[in-house]
Amino acid sequence: MAIQTVDANTNQLLKSFEEMSVSQVDEAISNATSAFTEWKKTSYEKRADLLHKVATLMRDQKQYLAGLITMEMGKLIAQAEGEITLSADILDYYADHGAKFLADKPLAPEYGKAFIRYSPIGVLLGVEPWNFPFYQVARFAAPNIMVGNTVLVKHASIVPQCAIAIEDLFKEAGAPKGIYTNLLISGKRASGLVSDTRIKGVSLTGSEAAGASVASEAGKNLKKSVLELGGSDAFIILEDADMDKAVEWAVVGRINNNGECCVASKRFIAIESIADEFITKFKDKMAALVMGDPMDAATQLGPLSSEEAAVDLADQVQRSVDAGATVLLGGKRPDRPGAFMEPTILTDLHPGIPAYYEELFGPVASFYRVKDDQAAIDLANDSPFGLGGSIFTQDIERGKLLADKIDTGMVFINHPTWTQADLPFGGTKGSGYGRELSELGIDEFVNKKLIRIS
Ligand code: NDP
Repeated sequence: MAIQTVDANTNQLLKSFEEMSVSQVDEAISNATSAFTEWKKTSYEKRADLLHKVATLMRDQKQYLAGLITMEMGKLIAQAEGEITLSADILDYYADHGAKFLADKPLAPEYGKAFIRYSPIGVLLGVEPWNFPFYQVARFAAPNIMVGNTVLVKHASIVPQCAIAIEDLFKEAGAPKGIYTNLLISGKRASGLVSDTRIKGVSLTGSEAAGASVASEAGKNLKKSVLELGGSDAFIILEDADMDKAVEWAVVGRINNNGECCVASKRFIAIESIADEFITKFKDKMAALVMGDPMDAATQLGPLSSEEAAVDLADQVQRSVDAGATVLLGGKRPDRPGAFMEPTILTDLHPGIPAYYEELFGPVASFYRVKDDQAAIDLANDSPFGLGGSIFTQDIERGKLLADKIDTGMVFINHPTWTQADLPFGGTKGSGYGRELSELGIDEFVNKKLIRIS
């Protein structure tokens, strides 16, 4: 894949970048390896100081950095600014809490005394996607730099300017050479790096295909991997839900980030008695969305990240319609330049239809009616994915009972699946394994060494 900035709003090529050569990548891995020998000896205070400095620089340059995000992948500018703030919050969170999370953990064995000491494992490779170009990197880099590991980041080929800007922030904050390195290379070459003996672990966020490629290399080479892949979150509306609130969040859950979120609400499942009311209100709000330039503050739905993404999504919709799905709203590419897709709602879906099992990465909602709670759970669980999910009800105990039965890594009651620094993030089934963020996110690439005293 060419490494390029293409304006998703116009499909104009703005800038091309040359891939790093084999010897440049080799040098980068060597630098990260040498940097590790020193970085692992530094104090938590020093590591926290670096993360705080990067966070401060991010906030200082918020407008500029948000502009890069919007230009390269089409996110609405206000949401891009929100992403910069969230990313800085994640850096601060690990700077503030990392030492506490990594403190010796006393054990109470039957014989002797023992404790667990946390230590870094070395150079890590992070393969990151374009949909949240700063946030995805922050949640990988911040905990691992705090642990004392050094990181190489292979970012998505369509966000090279964001990728370079993040590396520049670390340089500007005074990070020693090799602590954080951006690798301008293709995805295929990233998988090939996993076997390099100097690299000790790999974390990937992206598609199942990319995840499987990286994880199989990691498996062959006996290395730890963390995968955060796709999702097809169910958004369940029970008959006692606060309907207006449910509808508001349904729209946000589906079209936040122009619909390109792994944890977007994708399958809307309503109990029969309130299904008509929900779908009427949801359809009205989806139809009223203002589509346009993501730099314009009045825009509510921007383009997808690339023309290819829009073509693929329109094709999924068409294949679903050909297989018997009904289009309740939209269903086509609008007649305008750029990587746009109409807000769309599909219904009459069943397992033979592509949209039933496939992830829809854009503003396309699937709508289902069910007779009761059990049918809602069965449908929610009939998915290859297991990332997040939501339940809307005014009866929190009922919500908790249902949450327990959903086979995903996260369930939110009365809210779409969301993220913040102090909540763990990750999935089960085809959505991957391992966790990012919170205390759990600092725990993945550490040696938890037992020390026993007789
Ligand atoms: P990819 O999985 O292809 O891209 C994510 C990252 O993986 C990029 O850095 C990419 O590099 C890299 N990559 C691609 N192939 C390989 C490989 N064989 N080995 C190692 N790294 C690789 O996602 P796409 O951009 O193609 O999006 C396709 C679909 O993936 C989406 O429609 C969505 O379903 C899912 N996705 C999920 C995301 C999430 O947040 N969980 C985020 C993005 C996508 P390069 O850009 O150079 O190809």
